[in-house]
Amino acid sequence: MTPSSVLPTAQRTLKTAKIKITTKCNRHCDFCIFAEGGQGENMPLDTFTQVLDRLEQIPFRQLHINGGEPTVHRDFSELSAMANDRFPNQTMVLGTNAITVARNQRILEATLAHYDQVLIGCDEEHDNYDEVCDVIPVLREAGKTVVINSVLEAISQDRLSELAALCDEHGAIHVTNHVHHIDVGQPANELGGLCDRNVDQHLMIEVDGDCYRCFNAMAKIDSEFTVWDDDFATKVFAPRGKHYAFCLKCHEYKDSGLQIVPAPAVLTQRTAAI
Ligand code: SF4
Repeated sequence: MTPSSVLPTAQRTLKTAKIKITTKCNRHCDFCIFAEGGQGENMPLDTFTQVLDRLEQIPFRQLHINGGEPTVHRDFSELSAMANDRFPNQTMVLGTNAITVARNQRILEATLAHYDQVLIGCDEEHDNYDEVCDVIPVLREAGKTVVINSVLEAISQDRLSELAALCDEHGAIHVTNHVHHIDVGQPANELGGLCDRNVDQHLMIEVDGDCYRCFNAMAKIDSEFTVWDDDFATKVFAPRGKHYAFCLKCHEYKDSGLQIVPAPAVLTQRTAAI
């Protein structure tokens, strides 16, 4: 019997690449760590183009455009068209509070033209119930997948029921979650191993190009690399050996039991005859 031989590393594909095109927002949700209201910063168009260039180096399935509130970026329509042109085979996803989508015809048209899915945060904190009621039928009639996400700490039971009924009527998806990245008095997680929730799942790219391999990790110390690094594509799939700052209090912590994730994807095969 001859020794085993090593096959090439299995092809890895990222589920989601998310570009945060602005830290501006038209709301001031208490729990939000991602936006700075009107004081935020927009990603310039040429920077966005360069980020798209970098993303061409890695396989991924969905491109999320997000913020802050991405629709308040002055170049939202143009950025959306560019991204859709560049990645015609990826699912285009918009994360929004829907306020501008409901009030601005040009933004609505850009959303209908360039996105397949629209994810909308909706609760008392977002204070956007009327706008969400307006846009759900329009988006669904256009064949868009619509996901309404309510933070349980920020919505009444009555409003939750109304939203669920509205989604049911129009074929939208209603999901709820907790404020997963903030200490709201919950006990600390026992960090026995690294969280495997994000293995080959998410890459979030900030306005300045800093990268996070988790949607919830966004303390500057958690940025392991930038989109500008020469070996960016390698780093996206490199093993992760440290918790992020938010893991201790994150509702989404899922213990892998491993001290390094993802596990190296090396396959072995017996090749010789006996
Ligand atoms: S515990 Fe939370 S912050 Fe940490 S990697 Fe998992 S999802 Fe991200």
